[in-house]
Parts: sequence; C-alpha cells; structure tokens
Amino acid sequence: MSFIFPPKATSAVPIKDSEQLYPVNRIYCVGQNYGDHVREMGGDPKKNSPVFFSKPANAIVINNKSVKYPTATDNFHYEVELVVALSSGGVNIPEELALNCVFGYAVGIDFTRRDLQNFAKKAGRPWDVAKGFDQSAPISSITVKSEITDLSKVQISLSLNGEVRQNSKLDAMIWSVTEIISELSKFYALQPGDLIFTGTPSGVAAVTPGDRLSAEISGIGNLDFEII
Ligand code: MN
Repeated sequence: MSFIFPPKATSAVPIKDSEQLYPVNRIYCVGQNYGDHVREMGGDPKKNSPVFFSKPANAIVINNKSVKYPTATDNFHYEVELVVALSSGGVNIPEELALNCVFGYAVGIDFTRRDLQNFAKKAGRPWDVAKGFDQSAPISSITVKSEITDLSKVQISLSLNGEVRQNSKLDAMIWSVTEIISELSKFYALQPGDLIFTGTPSGVAAVTPGDRLSAEISGIGNLDFEII
C-alpha cells in the first residue's frame, strides 16, 4: 500500500552544538502557571490543578523565521515560556522520576489569539482556535539537560522592539517542571518528542506586523524574530 499523497515531514527542532534534530511528537501547554500572569488575566492563582491544552506539532517555528500575523484576530498576544523537551515518557510518572524523562530545555512563544480566547472562556468553549493555530509556537534550539545546573535561579525575559516586557525567575512558576510532567502523565501517555510549554509570567500584550520580538532564558536559549 502507498500513501495517496506524500506524508508531511516530521516537525523537528535544532539541538544546540549538535548536527542532530529533535523530532516533535506532541506539544502540550500549561496555562496560568505564574501568579502575576494569572492575576493580570483576572484569575486567582490559588487554584486547584494545572490548566492543560495543546498545539499541533507543526505549529512550531524554528531558526527565528518570521511569523505571519494570523487570520481571525485583532488581539494577537505573545507569551514567553520555558519549553521542556522529553526523551522518554509514560503514564502516572512519579515526581521523583520526572526529570529522567527530560532531554533538554528551550525558550518558546505561546502565541495566542487573545480575543478568541476571552470569548471561549466566557462562552465555556474550547481554546483550540485561540491557541492551536499555524505558527503559534516559535521555539529556540534545545539545550541538553546536563548543561543546566539549577533551573530555579534562571531568568526568563521577552523584549518587544527592544523594550523589556516580560521578566521573571523560573522559580516563580506555580507548578514546577517535575510537578507538570507528573500531573500531565495522569492524562496522557507521554512520549519521546513531546514538548511542554510551561506557562508565561506577566507582561503579555498584543503585537502587530513590523514588531520585533526577542526572548531569552539565560543559558538555555534565545529567540529573535519579526511579525510580518
Ligand atoms: Mn501560555
């Protein structure tokens, strides 16, 4: 049997200082994972369990390629996030074993059609059209886990046209990387190739064509690209 048309190539992310690529399986995302961002969205950070949603694997944008302003929104927001790249997985992973599943880390943007997300929240509808659209997940190259000593001390930041808009330490996350992996694995059989976007600190805002975004997680990765 043959395919009726050629299957799409696997989405893949460059690995820092390597000729090899990281093949993407799924993209999971955590919502509302920094108290200051939960508050700026009008929520209460003392919630019960993490908010999970997902994006398609082909939503990634690599090598600082420009991002096209999407259709169907007048309120297109950036969210800078730590991205965790898994090299193994499983179900019901205990927290103490969760780091064994991590291959490395990157910096990513969880682009959001905020107007559609606000409508979905009010109407009790799913977030798919607000979160899971084309080019909604720019990502840096991946730095392998062994190069990172202490994640909690690391700074995450985003600048819009050279002006710092988001800036936080990673230890401000409500749910830690190990807690996220353990919790997510209660709902999904996690796989090698799964990326997890771990939520954004405060300072999110809209962008328009011509804007330049740069993002950094010190020692982990950089992004620098334009909205066109
Ligand atoms: Mn997000």
